[in-house]
Amino acid sequence: MPDRLVLLGSKGGPALRPGGPWPSSSLLEIGGRCIIVDCGLGVTRGVVDAGISLKALDLIFITHLHSDHVLELGPLLHTAWTAGLATPVAVFGPPGTGHYWRRFCQAMEFDIEIRIVDEGRPDIRELVSISEFGEGEVVEQRGLKVMALRVDHPPVTDCFALRFDHGGKSVVFSADTAFFPPLAEFTAGADILVHEAMLEEGIERLVAKTGNGARLREHLLASHSFAEEAGRIASDAGAKRLVLNHLEADCIAAVRKTWAGDLTIARDGLVVELSSWKAA
Ligand SMILES: [Zn+2]
Ligand SMILES: [Zn+2]
Repeated sequence: MPDRLVLLGSKGGPALRPGGPWPSSSLLEIGGRCIIVDCGLGVTRGVVDAGISLKALDLIFITHLHSDHVLELGPLLHTAWTAGLATPVAVFGPPGTGHYWRRFCQAMEFDIEIRIVDEGRPDIRELVSISEFGEGEVVEQRGLKVMALRVDHPPVTDCFALRFDHGGKSVVFSADTAFFPPLAEFTAGADILVHEAMLEEGIERLVAKTGNGARLREHLLASHSFAEEAGRIASDAGAKRLVLNHLEADCIAAVRKTWAGDLTIARDGLVVELSSWKAA
């Protein structure tokens, strides 16, 4: 199985538009591990469309508890369970992830109990383990090392960029963040940096479209990055490829002011091979 990154859901924010992209989720297959990063709405469909059996779910990481990153965590696990999941799944998330999961299981208690009795399924509450992490090492197992860096996404304090290293390859996810220079060191030498990006014009369009304009503009400016800033991080880090996602698709001209390297603009279902271009 070649190492690859699949951008399952590439937009930021919880809203859906007709025929448009889905909120944040990614699939990282590295060193034989099947890793989901963030579980925005649509993640379950995305995993299936990427050709992954839901029974193969292995590791799930959540960067922060904004709904466009976590809303479908419970439904993903529950759907995998009804599809025959029988092996443990480890979920790593910020403080509060365990609370979300326990309450989800409570909300679905009728269905969970009846399927255990009626269909003889194992107890999903025992199959799924939740580990809450802070900054630093999240987990190291079978050659996979995952590190977390707290980023700048007010008013959310527990929002973490994640770095995955395996067999000399590395992929970093910025999570949602305003321009955050320490992210460059955290990303040093990475094969891929997946970074959020917005445009000044994009903010004005979004603000015009939604009701609470002033508040939204304030949040976007304080808590998210411009494409030029994402490019600056990738350049300072010496990353090999920059993948832009989350807020704006039309940002090539802006990011080219600060980033001259390989560039991918995310769209749902897009595959970025880790091995092929590394060998090329
Ligand atoms: Zn977001
Ligand atoms: Zn967020």
